[in-house]
Amino acid sequence: MDSCIFCKIANGEIPSNTIYEDDKFRVILDNGPATKGHALVLPKEHYANLFEMPQDLLADAAVVAKKVASNIKDKLSCDGLNLVQNNGETAGQTVMHFHLHIIPRYENDGQHILWTPTSPSAEELVEVKNTIVGA
Ligand code: 5GP
Ligand code: ZN
Repeated sequence: MDSCIFCKIANGEIPSNTIYEDDKFRVILDNGPATKGHALVLPKEHYANLFEMPQDLLADAAVVAKKVASNIKDKLSCDGLNLVQNNGETAGQTVMHFHLHIIPRYENDGQHILWTPTSPSAEELVEVKNTIVGA
């Protein structure tokens, strides 16, 4: 993908603050971080989102995320950590090259990455379940 910024970063054509690299992935610091140490796991091959990612590469991404997250936790002494992965504009995806956010969390960091729970009825939940898996 000639026009994809994350393809260029992942393959080293554009410099980045790389904190991990192997033959399939580059992990960089986000340049608009939610918190100190916010990092992005980028596959070197272009896949737009979760649905396009091959099974094996997705599994590898999770292993890389754990390795890098453990290093971040160790070095930056964060109190918690979110893994976030957005698919589609509605879900907040702004760069259409699959990436996994690693977001270290610190007490009182002022970020609001969690959601507001809603209160569907038991029947509504069953209806959703039946729609997904079949009645
Ligand atoms: P999304 O909203 O698509 O899940 O996340 C895109 C992320 O990429 C954002 O957090 C944004 O700050 C980051 N980002 C966008 N362009 C660049 C860039 O050129 N370099 C780096 N390091 N991060 C970027
Ligand atoms: Zn790309």
